[in-house]
This record gives sequence, C-alpha cells and structure tokens, in this order.
Amino acid sequence: MGKLKDLAIQFANRKKGPQCSVGQLLDTLKTEERVELNEAIASQLPGPAISEAVDQMYGVVLKAHIIGRHRRGECKCPS
Ligand SMILES: [Zn+2]
Repeated sequence: MGKLKDLAIQFANRKKGPQCSVGQLLDTLKTEERVELNEAIASQLPGPAISEAVDQMYGVVLKAHIIGRHRRGECKCPS
C-alpha cells in the first residue's frame, strides 16, 4: 500500500465520531431492515417521507435534515 493511500485512509477514519441518529438507528436494525433503510436513503425519496415511514415503522423520529446530512455523507458516521 502506498503512503498517499495510507494517509488518505487515516484522514477518512478521522471523520469517525459519534454517529448521527440515522446511524444509531441503523445499528439497532436487523440486517434486512438495515438494507431496506439504506436503500431508501440512497434512493430519490424525499427525506421527510423517509422520516415519516421510519416513525411509523419503528417509532423513531429521524429529522429530515439529519437524513439529508447522512445521505450526503456530511455526518460523522463511518461510511
Ligand atoms: Zn449518519
């Protein structure tokens, strides 16, 4: 492995921090539920719609803008 790649990996890992509420919820889900939610987040579905669906299914309120941040990789969840 080259030095540049080592450094880049180091910087990528630095991003890890407390997970956002989306990441926290994902951690508690069963594999197939996690896959489903990840697919919804990766899709074109609007954040508020995902937020409402998650609330109804799991009784967890995920703010739409948090979903948006997680979707764009701007949160501190390990990607
Ligand atoms: Zn996140």
